[in-house]
Amino acid sequence: GRPRVVVVGGGAGGATAARYLAKDSDGAIDVTLVEPTRSYYTCFFSNLYIGGFREIDSLAHSYGGLAASGVNVVHDWAVGIDRDARTVSLAGGGVLPYDRLILAPGIDFVDGSVPGWDVSAQNAMPHAYKGGSQTELLKAQIMAMPEGGLFAMVAPPNPYRCPPGPYERISMVAHLLKANNPTAKILLIDPKDKYSKQALFEEGWQNHYPGMIDRIGPDFGAANVEVNPVDMTVTIDGTVEKVDACNVIPAQKAGRICELAGITEGNWVPVSGHTMQSRLDENIHVLGDATNQGDMPKSGFSANSQAKVAAMAVRGALTGSRVFPAKFSNTCWSLIATDDGVKVGATYEATDEKIAKVDGFISQTGENPDLRRVTYEESIGWYAGITSDMFG
Ligand code: FAD
Repeated sequence: GRPRVVVVGGGAGGATAARYLAKDSDGAIDVTLVEPTRSYYTCFFSNLYIGGFREIDSLAHSYGGLAASGVNVVHDWAVGIDRDARTVSLAGGGVLPYDRLILAPGIDFVDGSVPGWDVSAQNAMPHAYKGGSQTELLKAQIMAMPEGGLFAMVAPPNPYRCPPGPYERISMVAHLLKANNPTAKILLIDPKDKYSKQALFEEGWQNHYPGMIDRIGPDFGAANVEVNPVDMTVTIDGTVEKVDACNVIPAQKAGRICELAGITEGNWVPVSGHTMQSRLDENIHVLGDATNQGDMPKSGFSANSQAKVAAMAVRGALTGSRVFPAKFSNTCWSLIATDDGVKVGATYEATDEKIAKVDGFISQTGENPDLRRVTYEESIGWYAGITSDMFG
């Protein structure tokens, strides 16, 4: 019969890989995608929903287009991988055999990384770092804050999904509060000394939201934080703060199925950048946030770029089609205020050791408003492009 590929996870990495394999192999490969949700809510642009620039429905995407393009879409959880038998077992009881397996499960959270917080507390203190209901919950809690209330964010340590994501979120929370609750305050508790596009964010906050945002770094105790989701307090180096809404973004690791497959080292999956194959099992390719991806940041753009490299390698291995040297690219846009968009990006190539940066670019402080508006408009085009590349 036809060679079989199973893809676990239908996000930026997995949906793209499944679609390219089905499309480019013209039916020569049997492609099955395992994904529990019927509707994928992107994390990208979820901050724009919080800021009031997007509707939640505009972030949702169904798998009907993938099914129509020949991918067998199975709505279930992968719960086990037998690497010797080359099978994936499903929560619903099914077993799927594969010749090649692609894992793109995204992230899970590291237990105990923020003392006082675990997944059972995510309704009181949402992470909103997986898309959909958590994003809606966080926005509802911000809208319900009392006049002049305090919003706090506990930012994650490196490495984590979307390096500028927490800081774009702070900008969008500030934008929302400026319009609805202008005397409210924002406390950003950050365990890192520095962060992505810092000069751009700091300039933007000063311009658009003066006096509203306070960031404390590790020098002032931000690496020693504890939360209490029942009392709604945050304790920073022993000092207790009462908060009205609190976004806890814990430390992250590869989606749990990677641990179950036995291919992680530390929190992430080591891969070869030439093919995105696991360093521990050549029948498994791993994409996106779950991987230890060298110089690339964990982003939807990166995952989509890696998916194309993996799909080409898998097709080459299973059908003998031509394989070209791996090339990758990424851009992370962030919106600071209306029409004030900034970006950072780079191109990459695979070396035997890692995915290595070739060339990069970043927006500059003091840029004129027209350029910032063009940058924002670029990001809207990117969103439309990547979601149609993923879902057809
Ligand atoms: P995901 O897209 O998370 O997909 C993983 C999928 O796997 C999920 O659908 C999940 O349901 C499924 N899954 C997990 N475990 C299993 C299992 N056991 N069985 C079956 N299915 C499973 N990136 C950008 O490029 N640009 C941005 O502007 C941007 N903004 C962001 C803003 C925020 C607030 C956040 C949180 C992220 C942002 N990102 C952005 C990052 C981007 O969302 C992620 O990097 C990207 O989604 C990673 O793709 P992935 O395929 O690795 O994982």
